[in-house]
Amino acid sequence: MFVELRDLRVSFKTYGGSVRAVRGVNLDIERGECLAIVGESGCGKSVTANTIMRLIPSPPAEISGSVRMDGTELLALPEKRMKEIRGKSIGMIFQDPMTSLDPTMRIGSQIMEGLRIHDKKMSRHEAENMVYETLGMVGIPNPRAQFKRYAYEFSGGMRQRVVIAMAVICKPRLLLADEPTTALDVTTQAQILGLIRDLKTHLGSSVVLITHDMGVVANMADRIAVFYAGQVVEEGASEDVFRNPSHPYTAALLNSRPRLDRDRKQKLATIGGAPPDLFAPPQGCGFFERCPAAMEVCGDIPPSRYDCGAPGHRSLCWLHHEFASPRRDEWLRMRFSG
Ligand code: SF4
Repeated sequence: MFVELRDLRVSFKTYGGSVRAVRGVNLDIERGECLAIVGESGCGKSVTANTIMRLIPSPPAEISGSVRMDGTELLALPEKRMKEIRGKSIGMIFQDPMTSLDPTMRIGSQIMEGLRIHDKKMSRHEAENMVYETLGMVGIPNPRAQFKRYAYEFSGGMRQRVVIAMAVICKPRLLLADEPTTALDVTTQAQILGLIRDLKTHLGSSVVLITHDMGVVANMADRIAVFYAGQVVEEGASEDVFRNPSHPYTAALLNSRPRLDRDRKQKLATIGGAPPDLFAPPQGCGFFERCPAAMEVCGDIPPSRYDCGAPGHRSLCWLHHEFASPRRDEWLRMRFSG
């Protein structure tokens, strides 16, 4: 396996107590695949990605478990070694291009910086040529002219392309894209997703696409991991998760998408209630308070992970226990009713 996360736990100490943001995440990322991490705000998606990059200082955060890449334990590496991996082996596209770009530096110099940190022997001339090539690759026209411009001179979509150029210039083997299309209009959103898909094919990198939008992952992801309250509640091949959502939260997420084949007068379904307080996570299932299929056991005992039929399709839900089959059948009949 290329990247393996095992029992990853991240908590943040605050004056009000300890926030358990990531609670025992197990994930595999295969070479060359696109894994989408989906879930609502605060479910632990970005914290997981930042932990893979070792961008969360510990202390004050408390991090335990394992993050292995090609057999190397990233959580145990000294910071000096981690600096060699960041940018070179793992690239990250951050959420907001305006705040992740330095407004005082020309964009060409910003993109070139990572390149020259990782390859000290590279001449300035060679580095500049690589920046031109990468700017062209991410669809920025006339790269030589753009090199000397500042971030504020670009539109939102173009700034996002600059951030992508920074993330891919060293041809990383793993690309973490954290909500790369937030705040972009739908046309630019489609262009940026198409660009990430092309780069994945061109560079052969694995991509972790973090989003709260199921629509975004439909055409991108090979596999999906659905996060809820700091845990992976369902994972599987993209097709299996879309066709046969096996956790009530995944089904609720899918039901709350606008669909062209629905009656236009029908109200858009929403997920009632709120996620649990991660200062004091519930002792049973985290979705218990909002779940239309909840059973008595769900509030008392944390659910186990069950296979849902297709290879690699698993759900963290009591409905898949053999004793719950009548309740599961009832839920399967109503899960798409919205
Ligand atoms: Fe719903 Fe119970 Fe499954 Fe949790 S374990 S999602 S409460 S059915």
